[in-house]
Amino acid sequence: MKNKELLLIPGPTPVIDSIYDALSQETRSHTDARFAAIYHSAIEKTKAMLRTDGEVFIISGSGTLAMEMALVNTVGPKEKVLVVSNGYFGDRFIKLGEAFGFEIDVIQAEWGKAVTAEELEDKLKEKQFKAVTITHADTSTGVAADLDTLVPVIKRHGALVIVDGVCATAAMEEDMSKVYGGGKIDVVLTGSQKAIGVPPGIAVVAFNQDALAARERLGHVSAYYTDIYNWLQVMHDPQKYFATPPVNLIYAYHEGMKLVLEEGMENRYVRHTKFSKAVRAALGVYSMQALADESVAATTLTCVRYPDGVDDAAFRNCLAEKGVVVAGALAHLAGKAFRIGHMGNTDIEMLKTAVKCIGETLHELGHEADIEKALERFDGELALV
Ligand SMILES: *Cc1c(COP(=O)(O)O)cnc(C)c1O
Repeated sequence: MKNKELLLIPGPTPVIDSIYDALSQETRSHTDARFAAIYHSAIEKTKAMLRTDGEVFIISGSGTLAMEMALVNTVGPKEKVLVVSNGYFGDRFIKLGEAFGFEIDVIQAEWGKAVTAEELEDKLKEKQFKAVTITHADTSTGVAADLDTLVPVIKRHGALVIVDGVCATAAMEEDMSKVYGGGKIDVVLTGSQKAIGVPPGIAVVAFNQDALAARERLGHVSAYYTDIYNWLQVMHDPQKYFATPPVNLIYAYHEGMKLVLEEGMENRYVRHTKFSKAVRAALGVYSMQALADESVAATTLTCVRYPDGVDDAAFRNCLAEKGVVVAGALAHLAGKAFRIGHMGNTDIEMLKTAVKCIGETLHELGHEADIEKALERFDGELALV
């Protein structure tokens, strides 16, 4: 299947041919040995991607289900969770935690800024938290959390570190074997449809040994479908049954993981950095500025402020007519900014097409835009980094 539109929203991201091919293979029984072998391989590849010696869970669901699975298996009723929030998706952990009766504290950055290690340190001194959630790339603001400075602070205070990688995993470093000043990331959760580049529908959660020990100490958890103990036997032997896995999506996810590992993690981190700098430089030529400072900018997506006088709906409709789909901004930024994804299996040609079509759209709406110069800046940045 060929895509008719360029889907540059911050997820789902463009699905490429080999992944569609994998998706459209014959649907087999979820306990068929041939399917089980692929499921097993998808689990092993995910462990390799995250460099974890713990357990990985790959099940039907969206990123939000993965967030729930991460929390409910590590934190018990009335236990304290600190939410480090750089935007809308960080805040989602507050709602989730409240739904399960956890005691939630939050540090919220102003939109476009990131919570700092100092702010985190001050909060952690106030009381003992069981776990801290960090949204690696907040998809509402395009702000990245700096794991290198935040994780060591949390580890010094002895809390579990839960990283929401829904818009980061496979593009930004999430290495569960890495030692951050005396400790490691305990849980990484993600979804299939963002930087992994597979259609939506798969939730992924990885637990290290400390997180698994936390699950054990909880005994009972207030969950059934998301209780990792119900899935453990399936992850160890995918011919076992707990609840039907999304057979065709697992084929597609397996292909996605194969591509991720073939490219290599370090190469992927560099590629995403290059793409993000190139997109921001090119859009800068159109007087479109990123909401996030370059120092805290995510490499997977950018939230871009409109220049004065550009109408959000008119802009996005006109751009969509040219076959390029970007997303509106959320909450108080709605109408004032748009969001563009540059992650997963997005390639240079796709991004240059987007730069060109955005320029043409600005022309049609009566604004100036130097398309030649924008494309030059794009190429220039790619050559630079
Ligand atoms: C998209 C996203 C989510 C939610 O994922 P769904 O698949 O929509 O449930 C959570 N966190 C982050 C950082 C995201 O980008």
